Amino acid sequence: MSSVQIQCTRCKNVFRDRAGRLQDGYSRQCPSCEVVLFFAEDSQHPFVKRAMRDARKVRKEMREAEAAKLAAPEPQGAQSRRFAGRTRSAGRED
Ligand SMILES: [Zn+2]
Repeated sequence: MSSVQIQCTRCKNVFRDRAGRLQDGYSRQCPSCEVVLFFAEDSQHPFVKRAMRDARKVRKEMREAEAAKLAAPEPQGAQSRRFAGRTRSAGRED
């Protein structure tokens, strides 16, 4: 499942959530300090902005992958081979 990294604005803990959920108006609790984080398009907080930007990017990539799949359906074998070769992107810790 496609997820993005979120950094808590209070305790700086990094956790992950689904890109599909992370949209304007979404809120969730930090699993570490239990503060409720609010995600808004007009947020000024760099952690929130970064998480929302990443989520938008992931959703766009998912849409494009879906569109490409519909445009050019592949035979079963080619699809599973591609899935096996996919590398997980390393977590960006900064
Ligand atoms: Zn926290």
